[in-house]
Amino acid sequence: MVRQNLGERSMEEKHPWAAIYPGVSLGFFKEEKEKSDRGEPTSICEPDCADTCGVCGGKFNVIANPEVPEAEAEPVPPESGHGRPDPEVFRMLFSFCKEGSAVFLGHLSLIEVFPMALARADLPVLYSRGFNPLARLEIAHPLSVGITAAAEMATADFPEPIPGDDFARRMNAVLPEGIRIRAARCYRIPAGSRKRSLSSLLWGFAYGRPEAPCNYVPALQEKAFRLETLGEAGSPFSLYRREVLARNPAMDVDGENAWASYFEVYGGLYGAP
Ligand code: SF4
Repeated sequence: MVRQNLGERSMEEKHPWAAIYPGVSLGFFKEEKEKSDRGEPTSICEPDCADTCGVCGGKFNVIANPEVPEAEAEPVPPESGHGRPDPEVFRMLFSFCKEGSAVFLGHLSLIEVFPMALARADLPVLYSRGFNPLARLEIAHPLSVGITAAAEMATADFPEPIPGDDFARRMNAVLPEGIRIRAARCYRIPAGSRKRSLSSLLWGFAYGRPEAPCNYVPALQEKAFRLETLGEAGSPFSLYRREVLARNPAMDVDGENAWASYFEVYGGLYGAP
């Protein structure tokens, strides 16, 4: 058998991927390779760039992550209980429907749809501060492909207050067909306060079309409910999730009315929007 040597390519050779222009110059890549061979680090991207690669200056520019404004970086609020600044945020709580062709979108697709829509709507969502910053967005509970939903719940964090109506209007202008914001309210969460995630407050779900009786199903019993409703071979396309419900903090977890709407619970935690 003849084996082709697929070892290291020459720096001067024209490579198969040369037709794709990523915005970074070939000269920069070569310099980076040489620096890497010498063990020299490259500085991070910042507005006053010392290692110009060719990307910034025209259509693109590096911007600072707005999560911690300069003035809030010090001191650390003592209530936060950890060493990082914990500034105030404005959390948009919103419900959205998923219907029509959008029922074919899986959960991972859905969590890409919203950051793209936030960017297209030019809404200043906050980003996580890790190596790969992600929009600070939470969807209360994944929804299986095929199920129609009337009021799934999600949050997005902002550095400034945004009226709920404005948020819904701007998002609905850019969201794909079948996904629409139904209601949105913005809550101020003060610096150092516990930011309650939707998943930590989840009680369960209301199933049933608007004209049909409603089944209130605790989260841990959802799988059993689906099996009972559909049978082993049943299709999820016949299911309709009417609402995602939060634990009602005023009630016994197992008692009557153990659930409430997320808007009621967030209003109780953080006050009126
Ligand atoms: S700051 Fe911009 S020009 Fe400089 S290395 Fe980063 S992406 Fe390239």
